[in-house]
Amino acid sequence: MKRVYLDYAATTPTHPDVLAEMQPYFFLKFGNPSSIHQFGQEAKAAIETAREKTAKLIGASADEIVFTSGGTESDNFAIEGIAFANEKKGKHIITSKIEHHAVSECCEFLAKRGFTITHIPVDKFGLVDPEDVKKTITDKTILISIMHANNEIGTIEPIAEIAGIAKEKGVYFHTDAVQTAGHIPINKLNADLISFSAHKFYGPKGIGALYIKKGTRMVSFLHGGAQEKNRRASTENVPGIVGMGKACELAQNDMAIEKETILRDKLIKGLFDQIPEIVLNGHPTLRLPNNVNISIKHIEGESILINLDLMGIAASSGSACTSGSLDPSHVLMAIGLAHEVAHGSLRLTLGKYTTDDDIIYLLETLPPIVKKLRAMSPLK
Ligand SMILES: *Cc1c(COP(=O)(O)O)cnc(C)c1O
Repeated sequence: MKRVYLDYAATTPTHPDVLAEMQPYFFLKFGNPSSIHQFGQEAKAAIETAREKTAKLIGASADEIVFTSGGTESDNFAIEGIAFANEKKGKHIITSKIEHHAVSECCEFLAKRGFTITHIPVDKFGLVDPEDVKKTITDKTILISIMHANNEIGTIEPIAEIAGIAKEKGVYFHTDAVQTAGHIPINKLNADLISFSAHKFYGPKGIGALYIKKGTRMVSFLHGGAQEKNRRASTENVPGIVGMGKACELAQNDMAIEKETILRDKLIKGLFDQIPEIVLNGHPTLRLPNNVNISIKHIEGESILINLDLMGIAASSGSACTSGSLDPSHVLMAIGLAHEVAHGSLRLTLGKYTTDDDIIYLLETLPPIVKKLRAMSPLK
């Protein structure tokens, strides 16, 4: 059976060149980077090279990059690191209603420990209004955390503007750039902290980085050894770091933006031409080049996914049954979708290896599935 992967926002395959670069660091060059002998120094040198490549992707300097275990840790590190180092100044944090759980649950955790969290709403396209952020800042605000682009609906936020406001008010600004790093150009974004994760752009899983601008006051995340200049203890994931460095280098040379945009727009047009009663979620133009998110009225996203999977197509949904909760995604709720419309959502995310044939196959396969499910649907 044909297999088509349209879930690149969940994870991407590791690029063969990335794997090749990592390979020697498992057996031949396995040293602990903290060791003073040659084995150690070889590993340490590899980490520093990878750090430079990672920094280059976002226009930072190498000593502003700390390697972590992924996007989740980077988000937690950024938020808790700022919160616990600056709580004497104040305990107010501003974030949005559409953040990834790695940010929102971390804020929840802090809310239970005496911090006040303001959740900025978004408009129907998923956009945060920078003016709303500005109005919410008080003299107790220590951090603003707003994502660069949303992982479900693909909306790209006006980060530079929000970062400018934060700077003007002397408040730290963090952005979760896990969906944009390696996909669209990022140049520090005027932020103090930026999270990214290798497996979202053709690197390995379990490795990520946090950009921490020079002079940022924060506490370290893991306590133990002196790795990462005392900011994150634990023996470094050398193969992972090497892989992330390579993935950053590859991304810099080839982001596939044009190719993805063409396929994305072809897909959106095809869906609207062939399936009645659907809506596009997210912004029509301020959106990730690889993201399509639609709601298909009168049916459940979950059933669509299962039927697509039977035909070899991997996609994702904001319908909640998988997560065991009855509520649809907080993102779809935040853009104001009715529950039943949110439940019919389907996310198709493209990547480097998506072909024209993949899109044609999806456009042949999905309409009959929708027709069949609608014929059986009690929601009509
Ligand atoms: C995937 C993702 C994360 C989590 O990254 P992991 O490396 O899987 O922990 C965080 N934020 C966003 C926006 C994501 O898409």
